[in-house]
Amino acid sequence: MATLETLPGGESCEIRFDEALRLHALERFQIVDSQPELPFDRIVTMAKRVLRAPIALISLIDQDRQWFKARVGLDVAQTPRSLAFCDHAIRQRAVMVVEDATRDPRFAGNLLVTGDPGIRFYAGAPLITRDGQPLGTVCIIDLQPRAMTPGEQETLADLAAIVMDEMELRLANHHLAVLAQTDPLTGALNRRTFFSLTEREIGRRSRTGCDLAVLLMDIDHFKKINDTHGHAAGDKVLTGFTHRISQVIRVQDVFARLGGEEFALVLPDSTLAQAVETGERLRRIVEHTPIPTENGPIKVTVSMGGAVVHPGEVSIDPALARADEALYRAKHEGRNRVLAA
Ligand code: GH3
Ligand code: MG
Ligand code: MG
Repeated sequence: MATLETLPGGESCEIRFDEALRLHALERFQIVDSQPELPFDRIVTMAKRVLRAPIALISLIDQDRQWFKARVGLDVAQTPRSLAFCDHAIRQRAVMVVEDATRDPRFAGNLLVTGDPGIRFYAGAPLITRDGQPLGTVCIIDLQPRAMTPGEQETLADLAAIVMDEMELRLANHHLAVLAQTDPLTGALNRRTFFSLTEREIGRRSRTGCDLAVLLMDIDHFKKINDTHGHAAGDKVLTGFTHRISQVIRVQDVFARLGGEEFALVLPDSTLAQAVETGERLRRIVEHTPIPTENGPIKVTVSMGGAVVHPGEVSIDPALARADEALYRAKHEGRNRVLAA
């Protein structure tokens, strides 16, 4: 955690941070290298206008570069971190003002001062997360030396606070969206999301005529796992099963928990034979990798039924019904197997 410390005799607060934690915090926002976005563009446009500076930026300090989420008056999208005034500004809570960079020993030899664009004046307000990690700044730059009033510094600090609020809000929204789409126990997609994503896949398939297959999976004798090891161990098995499958499927595959110990995997661009082959591979992985629990590793097996969406079918339901029949046969014929409709 970053700690805030008041410097003796001064009102400016130094921000001390652990660089690995800071980078981790930045990573969570998924903002570096994202596209320009209007709310952030508006802030820099406003900073430039209100504070009468030719250049205004929202800068994020990545591992070894500063990257600009928004910029006016500057053509480059990023600079090396070693040249970044902002890398100094994130070390203090107050706005950092450099009235004339040629007279500041930290910056007089900086290539952005001695060369293009010829920075003279800099003011940067840090972007600090709720838990105290400084990610970057909102800053203004002038090519002439100048001073900055306390009121102007406050304006810059307010703009930085608005940017940080916007970033935090986006992150919270993202977390809410993930919560709404996933099953709380396993983190797999939930039933509702499964059907809405699948509907989209079916629409795509009817336009392109590509294959679309589905595997229904049901863990074998799961009731016995609960009875033998307890419900908590059963939960661990469901979570472990989900992780295992999620690690070995393709990004375009849709994996969801439909309920209890029943899961479904939709495989775009897969024929029935390919789906069965995938199912076999997954079945063997599950069979051969016991799931660690507090009660020790638990061996599980899974039965699967596979089916494809037929031409003309506009819903996944008929294919799911066929997969369910195949799954029923797989159970009947001894479990731990993959059968196709
Ligand atoms: P089969 O091989 O025929 O599929 O047998 P099974 O025991 O796996 O199937 P059955 O449908 O008889 O039992 C499923 C069990 O899964 C019953 C239910 O209590 C348990 N279960 C459902 N949801 C959860 C859960 O979230 N956590 C735990 N621990 N158990 C669950
Ligand atoms: Mg079962
Ligand atoms: Mg079941």
